[in-house]
Amino acid sequence: MRKIGSHVSMSSPDYIAGSVKEALAYGADALMLYTGAPQNSFRAPISQLRIEEGLTIWKEHDYDPVDIIIHCPYIINLANTLKPETYEMGKEVLRKEIDRTMAIQARYMVLHPGSALTGDVTESLLQVARGINEVLREDDNVVIALETMAGKGSEVGKTFEEIRLIIDNVIYKDKIGVCLDTCHIHDAGYDLSDFDGVLRQFDEIIGLEKLCVVHVNDSKNVRGAHKDRHANIGYGEIGFDILNTIVHHPALDSIAKILETPYINKQAPYGYEIENFRNEQFREIPL
Ligand code: FE
Ligand code: FE
Ligand code: ZN
Repeated sequence: MRKIGSHVSMSSPDYIAGSVKEALAYGADALMLYTGAPQNSFRAPISQLRIEEGLTIWKEHDYDPVDIIIHCPYIINLANTLKPETYEMGKEVLRKEIDRTMAIQARYMVLHPGSALTGDVTESLLQVARGINEVLREDDNVVIALETMAGKGSEVGKTFEEIRLIIDNVIYKDKIGVCLDTCHIHDAGYDLSDFDGVLRQFDEIIGLEKLCVVHVNDSKNVRGAHKDRHANIGYGEIGFDILNTIVHHPALDSIAKILETPYINKQAPYGYEIENFRNEQFREIPL
């Protein structure tokens, strides 16, 4: 199993160099970071991010910058058809995030499709595509990976069909993909105990070639609960064995698999969770 990692922090003073070192300490060969606080759009200037230093360390380990995944801030809500200012602000933030992603030499940027609020779901999905079309340029070397959502509240992108509708309406097809989140699709109602069946559906509706990132999380809630509460691997309703099958699935070999499980007693569980997956055996996390 290769290309497994977790969400890591990126903060002053070490920025990307710190993120890379954190991932390596977990035994990871992939990582995901937010380029600042996920809930706001304040960002340090690109020149401060210690990108070269981080990439040098990463490449020294023979790891690929393409496995450095960027998660867009979740204040972006292109699905809001009720407030034009939210949509406009979302586009602005997304555009800056594309530039930052390219500066980091990353490629995949995970984006939440957003929430429709009381608006029409189809209109919302079409507006997400429109927003992407209005900011993406032909020479951008990125792929926006739409994340499959749990369907909490009025979230859109909770079915493969909804994701497909967005993709169908994006102009630059080579710059749009999907991030499959195991907690989210479980909460949305998909049965991960038949992962081959889930992949088959994904392939029929979206196309497997669009899958570019997987978020590996257990879920605190039963299938179909539409809650989106992540659990540590082996401590939730999906369970270790099913998630272990997923991370070792040959169809996901070339794709980054990213843990976003909760901290335990303020400590990152990722080193232990990655180790359990490598050993293909569940051991209690000693935190
Ligand atoms: Fe996410
Ligand atoms: Fe996720
Ligand atoms: Zn989530």
